[in-house]
Amino acid sequence: MEAIKSKIPFADLKRQYQSIEREVNQAIQSVLNETAFIGGRSNSFVQKFESEYSEWMNIEHTVSVANGTDALEIILSAWGIGPGDEVIVPALTWFSTAEAVISLGAKPVFTDVLSEYSTLDPAQLEALINPNTKAIIPVHLYGQMARMEDIMRIAESHNLKVLEDCAQAHGAERLNRKAGTWAHASAFSFYPGKNLGAYGDAGAICTRDSELAEICRQIANHGQRKKHDHLRNGRNSRLDGIQAAVLSVKLPYLNTWNDQRRQLAQEYFEKLSQSGIQLPKEDSHNQHVYHLFVAHHSQRDELVSWLAEAHIETALHYPYPIPSLPPVSAYIPEGQAFPVAQIACSTLLSLPMFPELRNEELQSVCNRLLAFPTK
Ligand SMILES: *Cc1c(COP(=O)(O)O)cnc(C)c1O
Repeated sequence: MEAIKSKIPFADLKRQYQSIEREVNQAIQSVLNETAFIGGRSNSFVQKFESEYSEWMNIEHTVSVANGTDALEIILSAWGIGPGDEVIVPALTWFSTAEAVISLGAKPVFTDVLSEYSTLDPAQLEALINPNTKAIIPVHLYGQMARMEDIMRIAESHNLKVLEDCAQAHGAERLNRKAGTWAHASAFSFYPGKNLGAYGDAGAICTRDSELAEICRQIANHGQRKKHDHLRNGRNSRLDGIQAAVLSVKLPYLNTWNDQRRQLAQEYFEKLSQSGIQLPKEDSHNQHVYHLFVAHHSQRDELVSWLAEAHIETALHYPYPIPSLPPVSAYIPEGQAFPVAQIACSTLLSLPMFPELRNEELQSVCNRLLAFPTK
């Protein structure tokens, strides 16, 4: 019997859950048994995950927080960034990168991105740096690292802080060095759909700087050093025990899942090399972890519909450059344009990409793409 043609999802978290169901259920059960809902005790689930993540990252400090946006904001706030300060961010990213700057009352200043890789264009930095500039936030977009060696060199020559937005790049590398180990601090999101995802909101800060780690830890916990010892104003941005326990179960699989993503990308490259679609490029010296597989096509909207008619889900990352969005546009100096991000946003589409995507599904996506009647 011919089954009804099933949908090919853009991402499917259920398949991964089913592959680790027993372990995850047990981990959550033990948090319940111990009522270890929030960190605290020295052997808590939260502290366990923090030390495991530091070890995996090969970095001194991991400070867990409630989500990736908070991680960005808490680091900037620990550096004292606020009104009157400027922070440079790329025009093509998820909204949070700019949002964290605006939330602190500072001004986001945007660079365009590299046309081949969609990451921050280091050549545009010098022209934007002025005495108010305090930090740069490169984003390792779609799973590929920005050109950190250039960014760090420019930042150091102007005495600027650098914060890596690693929300899409757990395990990505450049020049054999992991994302999140290059700059003064890095922010991670463990939103469920990320390469390492919790079962709710979660995030972390990584740094080698002990003093910064301590300040971030205090800010995330009402400015306290210990209970009732409030040294500064802070907020509530704690990771909870259930999320930490899930992350501890998942972390040992992350390298394998990233390898699976890379293999699927390789399959797309092989099968689509003769198609009219423009495939993502891997910058030399980069180990891309394909959080997203973002292709480009001049008839993007028609192509999205063509795939949707065959029950193939796609997504747009992202449909608009950040500077064009209403909460941000007031910060953009008259006449500043972002032509690369602008064109990218009108031609990009993200194809199905997650470690459990089946080969026959990937083949169906490619067949449908190859059959697209181009004008
Ligand atoms: C997901 C994401 C964030 C924010 O993470 P949340 O955990 O959702 O707050 C920040 N930056 C980028 C580039 C992201 O993709």
